[in-house]
Amino acid sequence: MTNVQADHITIGSDEWISGLKPDDADAMKLGQLDVSSLSASQAQRLWARLASWVESDQIAYYVNNSPVSSDAAYDARMRCLQALEADFPSLDTPQSPTHRVGGSFSNEFTSVRHPTRMMSLDDVFSIDELREWYQGVREDLNWPENKPLAMTSEVKIDGLALNLLYRNGVLVQGLTRGDGVTGEDITLNVRTISSIPQNLGGSPADIPEFVEIRGEVFMRFEDFDELNRQQEANGKPPFANPRNAAAGSLRQKDPHVTAQRSLSFYAHGIGRLTWGPKHPEGSHDEVVDQSQAYELYTKWGIPVSPYNRIVNSFDEILEMIDHYGKHRSEIEHALDGIVVKVEDIALQRRLGSTSRAPRWAIAYKYPPEEVNTELLNITVQVGRTGRITPVAILKPVYVAGSTVSRTTLHNPSEVKRKGILIGDTVVVRKAGDVIPELVGPVLEKRKGREDQLREFVMPQNCPSCGAKLAPAKENDKDIRCPNVESCPAQLTERIIHLASRKAFDIEHLGEQAAIALTNPEENRPESVDVYTPNMRAIIVKAGQEPVPYTPPEGTELPPIQEPVLKSEAGLFSLKIEDLKEVTAWRQVPILEETTIEGEKWRTIRRKIGDSGLWYQAPAFYNLPKFDASEASEASEASEAAEIEQESATTDDSAGVQASQETNKSTDTQPAETTQEQETAQEPAIQEPVGYLLREGQGEPGRNTLLMLEEIDKARSADLWRVLVALSIRHLGPTSARVIARRYTSLEALEHADEEELAELDGVGPEIAHSVASWFEGARQEGDWRGQILQAWKAAGVGNHTEQITKPQILEGMTIVVTGTLEHFSRDSAKESIIERGGKASGSVSKKTTYVVLGANPGSKAAKAESLNVPTLNEEQFKQLIETGNPGELSQSEEEGTEPKAQ
Ligand SMILES: [Zn+2]
Repeated sequence: MTNVQADHITIGSDEWISGLKPDDADAMKLGQLDVSSLSASQAQRLWARLASWVESDQIAYYVNNSPVSSDAAYDARMRCLQALEADFPSLDTPQSPTHRVGGSFSNEFTSVRHPTRMMSLDDVFSIDELREWYQGVREDLNWPENKPLAMTSEVKIDGLALNLLYRNGVLVQGLTRGDGVTGEDITLNVRTISSIPQNLGGSPADIPEFVEIRGEVFMRFEDFDELNRQQEANGKPPFANPRNAAAGSLRQKDPHVTAQRSLSFYAHGIGRLTWGPKHPEGSHDEVVDQSQAYELYTKWGIPVSPYNRIVNSFDEILEMIDHYGKHRSEIEHALDGIVVKVEDIALQRRLGSTSRAPRWAIAYKYPPEEVNTELLNITVQVGRTGRITPVAILKPVYVAGSTVSRTTLHNPSEVKRKGILIGDTVVVRKAGDVIPELVGPVLEKRKGREDQLREFVMPQNCPSCGAKLAPAKENDKDIRCPNVESCPAQLTERIIHLASRKAFDIEHLGEQAAIALTNPEENRPESVDVYTPNMRAIIVKAGQEPVPYTPPEGTELPPIQEPVLKSEAGLFSLKIEDLKEVTAWRQVPILEETTIEGEKWRTIRRKIGDSGLWYQAPAFYNLPKFDASEASEASEASEAAEIEQESATTDDSAGVQASQETNKSTDTQPAETTQEQETAQEPAIQEPVGYLLREGQGEPGRNTLLMLEEIDKARSADLWRVLVALSIRHLGPTSARVIARRYTSLEALEHADEEELAELDGVGPEIAHSVASWFEGARQEGDWRGQILQAWKAAGVGNHTEQITKPQILEGMTIVVTGTLEHFSRDSAKESIIERGGKASGSVSKKTTYVVLGANPGSKAAKAESLNVPTLNEEQFKQLIETGNPGELSQSEEEGTEPKAQ
C-alpha cells in the first residue's frame, strides 16, 4: 500500500502528522497509512500524539464514565499505535496505553526532568520588604523615576504547582513541581481534571510545536466542603484544608480516586515555548509580556485566574493587597497572598534569577489569620522530662484551615505576660500549618462579666503523681515534676517516645496504647453519676436530646487498676496475658441517626458530640463477636466497640507531628464514629437509648499482636536507637549515632568518660554531661535507671551497632541544610551527612562548606550569600552524598532562554 494524497497533504508526512485532529474523520485516515514508510522520528511523533489521545479516551471512558470519542475512532487509533509499536519496537514500553487492560490504571510517579526549571517565588511578609523589592527592580533596570513600570498583580492561590507539557497542541505530560528540576509524572490524574484541555483549542496557526504551561491545582471551597461531607458520611477523617485535600487527590496512584475529587486549575506562568518551523515570526500571536501569555491561554481554553490585574505603580499594588486582604472570603479558593510580576518578558530576562527564584517576581504573604474565641480553661500537661506546660483549652474555632481547640502556653510566665484570664475572649492566630498561638485577651469583652473571669494558678503539685513541682534550677522559667522515676504522665510520654520512629520504631504502640499500659485510670470519673458500665453510644434522632442518665441502683465505680508497665524495664517482658484485663476509660459518644430513603433504607450514624458519660473498654482485646442471627443491637454494639478498639491501638505516635504535641485534641480522640448500614425495611423509630454490651472478653486485637511482635523485633535495634529510647535529656538521634559509633555496646557506654564524650563531634558538653550523669545514676544500688539497663540487657538489647558501610566521602565538610527538601526530612538529610563522615551544622558561618537550600529557606540562604558560602539545590545535594562532589556549581542551570514564571 502506498500513501495517497489527501487534501493535497501526503499521508504520513510531517505536515500530515502535526495537522491530525482528534476527530473521527482523521482517525479513519489512519487506516490508509503505511507505518513502515515512516522515519523513526516521524513514527515517534505520531505515536506520542496518538498515545495521548488514546490515554485521554481511556480515562474518559473508564475513569470519568463519559466517553469523548466514538468506539470506531478509538479502535482506529489503537490499531495504529499497535502497528507503530510492532514496526518500531522502541515505542513499545510498559507505560504505553496499548498495554492498559480494561479500567486498570496506576500512576507510576516516575521522576521527569522539567524542560525548563520550575522556580518557586521568594516570599515577603511586610509592605516594607515588598517596597524594597519593587525599588530594587526599578534600580536594576535603570528605570526612569517617573516612568510607569507595568507589572501583573495576581491573587496567590494556596494550591499545588503543576507543569503541563503540550506538544503540537496535545497534552503529553503533567508534572508536579518536585524540586523544581525534576517533578513526578502524574499525567493520568491530570487527565481527569476537567478544566485542563487534552487538546489546545483556537486557531491552528496559534498552536506551537511545544509549550510548558505552569499553574496551580486547587480545590474550591465549595468542592472542599462537599468532599468533607462525603468523607464524614463514609466514616473517613475530614481533610484539614483545601490545600491538603488537593494534594491528597493529586497524588493518588489510582486516577479513579482523583476523578471523583473536584479539582480546579488556573495557569499563571509559561516555561519553554517553541513555535517550530511551521510558525515563522509574525504568523502567530506574539508573547512578549506576561498578560499576552494569559490571553493566548484563554484562546487555547486554558483557565486563567479572573483576578489578575495590570498595575503601573506601587500604590496600585498596595491597592490590590488591601482589596483582597478585605475580600479574601469572597474568592472561591484559598489564597495566601498577592504575586507581583514584571510584565515585559524581555525585562524579566534582563532581571534573571537567583539560584532558587526569579528576581522579576515576588509573593507578598498576608499576615497570619486571627480569630476570637473563648478561653474555657487552662490545664497543665506533664511532658516527657517532667516539664509542666500550661495548655489553653479553647472553645473550638476554625482558623486558617483547621479547627483549634487547645494550644500550648509554654510556661507560667507566658500566661502572666499575656495577661489572660480564664473566661476571657482571646485572640488566636495561625499562619499556614504553623502551631496556633494564643495572642492575648480582648480587653473590651471583659466589661460587665468580671465575675466570670479567674486567674490561672499554677498547681503546686503534679496533676499526675502529686509530687511537689519546682524549677530544676534556680531562675529556670520552667517548672518540673521531679518524680522522673514513677510519675505516670512522664512514663507515658517516655513510652510514646521510645516507640517513636526516632527510637525503637515500634508500630502500634502509640499514645492510646501507651496510656493503657502505664496509666489505665487516666480519665477515671470522680463520681458514679457519670459512670455507665453498659453503655457504648447514645443514639438520637436529629434534633433530639439524649435522655438524662441515672446510674442503675447499686452501681459502684470499678476498682482501680494497677498499670501493666511501671517502668520501661518491663517493656520486653510484656506478655499477651498481661494485657487481657486492661481497660481504658472512654467517653460515650452521642450519635445522630438519619435515615435516607431510597431503593433500600440507609441509616447513617454520625458522631455529634461527647456525652460526658464514661465507660471502660478492653484496651488490647477485641470484644466478642456475635453471630448474625443475634439481635442487631448487640452486633452494632460490638462494631462500635471495634472502632474504639482500633483507635486505641492504631494511633501511630511515630507519625505525630510537632504541631500535634500541643494540639492533642487532633490525635487522641478516636476518629468520628460513623456507621452506615443498609436494611431492607423501614427501621422502627427508636427512642434515644444506649446499647447493652454482653459480658466477657474476646480475642487479642490484631494490632495488639502486631505491637508485641514489633516490641520483640526492637531487641535487635541499633545501639543509637536504644540510647534515644532511654529518654536521656538533650540526647537526640543525631548525637546518639555519633556516640554509638564510638562506644559500640551499652556496656562500653556505661563507663564512658564525660570529657571524652564532650569531645565527640556533634555531642558537646551539655549532652555529654547529661549522658554521663544518666549512666552514673544507673550505677547506684537499686536505681531505677539501672533496673532498666539490666532488664533491657537481659532481653538482648543494646548489642547491635550499626555498621559503617558508607564511604566517608564528606569527611572534613560542614554542611547546613535549610528549607524543605522534597526527598529528605530534616533528620534524614542530617543523617546522610553524618553517615558519610560530614558534619551537619545548624548555623551558617565562614567554616560552612555548603548550604543546601530547600523550599522556603529563610534567613540562612541570605547569610550564605553574604558569606559567599556555596549553596546547593536538592539535586546537587543528592549528587554530593553519592559522590562527595556536588557537580557544577554555576548558577546558570539549564534555564533556557524562554520566558518563565513561577
Ligand atoms: Zn508527676
